[in-house]
Amino acid sequence: MYQIQYSIWNEKDFPGFQKKLVDLEEVSKAYYRDTAGGNLAEAHSIDTFLHDFEYYYLALFKAHLITKENFRNVLDQIKKVVAVKVLPKDARKYFALTYQNQIYINPDLKPVRSLTPDDMHLMVHSHELGHVINNQWVDASFHYANTLYQNPRVQGILRNMGLSSASYLKDGFCLLDEVVVQDVAERVTYLKKGQARPLMESRNDKAIFGLNSYRTNFNLYGEFQEIAVRFARTLSFLHCEAQDSDDEVLRKLDIAAFRGDFVARIERELEFHPDKIDSFVILLATMGKIKDSTYQIIGLSASKGSSVIVNSYLSPFEQITDSYTSPSKKGY
Ligand SMILES: [Zn+2]
Repeated sequence: MYQIQYSIWNEKDFPGFQKKLVDLEEVSKAYYRDTAGGNLAEAHSIDTFLHDFEYYYLALFKAHLITKENFRNVLDQIKKVVAVKVLPKDARKYFALTYQNQIYINPDLKPVRSLTPDDMHLMVHSHELGHVINNQWVDASFHYANTLYQNPRVQGILRNMGLSSASYLKDGFCLLDEVVVQDVAERVTYLKKGQARPLMESRNDKAIFGLNSYRTNFNLYGEFQEIAVRFARTLSFLHCEAQDSDDEVLRKLDIAAFRGDFVARIERELEFHPDKIDSFVILLATMGKIKDSTYQIIGLSASKGSSVIVNSYLSPFEQITDSYTSPSKKGY
């Protein structure tokens, strides 16, 4: 039976969490035994995942990412993980995958930058657990994207941008999901390492951003970070100040996302401020275009054939978001 690492998970304050870990081990190992074909050499990777799961949940408290407002939602969502499965050897180009609350893990992760394989497992497992927590609002965002797309005015804006499909709006929300789960995963990983996170740096990705560089301190998905921070600053319910650091803005975004009603709050904001819809659509579709471009390059996008370069979208994006940003924070 799964050995609990931390003694704090009492049933009164964290109902069902201990049981989830125990059940998850049982279900996941039974599945592994049934499918591994007699070679059980990688069973330990399920234990690693469970230890990381427990540390992740603890770290959310330590890093103040769980507050009164999202405590209940995080616990409810995180218990929805139904099984941990080991990716077959021929699918290990992926770090991990989450599908229908089943998390597929890769025991063969290589070091990245200053992260050891153990760090990488924790980071990647944390990333996928974040997707499970966000799953509900990401689902809601697809419905909302379809609703938005039925508005002729929204269709007009997208047509002018050359992005005539609701999928760019959905991908915009997906980019936010990726940034939230990766930011939280980075926080959790460096907390465990006892090290400060890396400093922000400029990076290039000529295939997508041309000569524009972007700022990031992520180990993975860095190309999404700055654009998501700029977008987050425009959401009035996050109460960002121009002088807030990018790190502070992301922390506010993470906490709001983990409340679960993220899309409902966006809907409400646009209902009360219909004047913001045009800008919102431009920002969301631009994020969607960037997400789609990066996925096209690694062969994971359905929309093959369209240009992956996003330069022409960056100026309008910057124009809209500049007024929310202090002068020192500007620039891709
Ligand atoms: Zn992801």
